[in-house]
Amino acid sequence: MLTRRKRVGNFINAAMAMPGTLAVLLAVVLAVAVMGLSGCALRSNTAKGGGAQGDGARVRIVTSFYPVYLTVINMTKDVPGVEVVNMTQPQTGCLHDYQLKPQDVEMLDRADLFVINGAGMETFMAKLLAQRGDLKVLDASAGVSLLYGGDGAANAHYWLDLDGVLRQAQNVSNELKKIDAAHAAQYAENYVEFSHRLEALAGTMRTDLESLKGKEIVTFHEAFPYFAKMFGLKIAAVIERDPGVAPTPSELEKIIATVKELGVKALFAEPQYAPKAAEVIAQETGAQVYSLDPIVTGVANLDAMDDYFRKMEQNFKTLKLALGVQ
Ligand SMILES: [Zn+2]
Repeated sequence: MLTRRKRVGNFINAAMAMPGTLAVLLAVVLAVAVMGLSGCALRSNTAKGGGAQGDGARVRIVTSFYPVYLTVINMTKDVPGVEVVNMTQPQTGCLHDYQLKPQDVEMLDRADLFVINGAGMETFMAKLLAQRGDLKVLDASAGVSLLYGGDGAANAHYWLDLDGVLRQAQNVSNELKKIDAAHAAQYAENYVEFSHRLEALAGTMRTDLESLKGKEIVTFHEAFPYFAKMFGLKIAAVIERDPGVAPTPSELEKIIATVKELGVKALFAEPQYAPKAAEVIAQETGAQVYSLDPIVTGVANLDAMDDYFRKMEQNFKTLKLALGVQ
């Protein structure tokens, strides 16, 4: 399933690179194919902890998008009667500019708790709360130390910082202890287990990547400042500021000049976006394009329990390879 979707994604990228109407047509056809695939994912979009079945769930939790879903299923692991549903579909990616659909609102009407990433990711919240003032919402970014962009706005991608995702997990665990007090011990235990796994991951990565401090990298869109912060990397340039919006020719020229000037050897693209701009820069500068995954897409079911750890490990491996760390 995953491989199939990935292949379709690659086709879209290839189609985007073709000139003229044929390319547009092909891209549209393939985008529809991807949406068709996600239809089958819809049925597996629900995680039931401890065997709760449909209407029998005691606690219904809806998450706004994939990274939040991953944290919440880890916090509700082995708790009977808890249902966790992810509101958005696998190909949605980040929620920048996401518009709520009628079925999203319907889903939220049945929720005991809506867990959002916060930090400005869910731009639809003001509108939603104006209509649904009684919806119980947990902003999982409370207390996270956020980074801010040049425009003064918070960078919402804090789950890519191990400390950020740990605080998110703590917020979720604490809220669930209140809502479902009978299982408070299990929520506390789940948080402790999650924090130990994060500590172990951080420990190996920090030793391995010590020699990366101060190296300059170029990334695609703004998902990676947290990642860079953790390892003392400097982001020399961001190729696309808004996902899906290609840089203008003059922006591209500036980035190419920066890459040449700093002798940047590695460009980091994301699998969710067409790597065309990165490829142009690579051709012009001789730098290599690598793929880092911001962990925003995936099929939301219990098989995803370890996905955060899997993808972070893969990202660290890619970083090491790209920056020549043995
Ligand atoms: Zn994003």
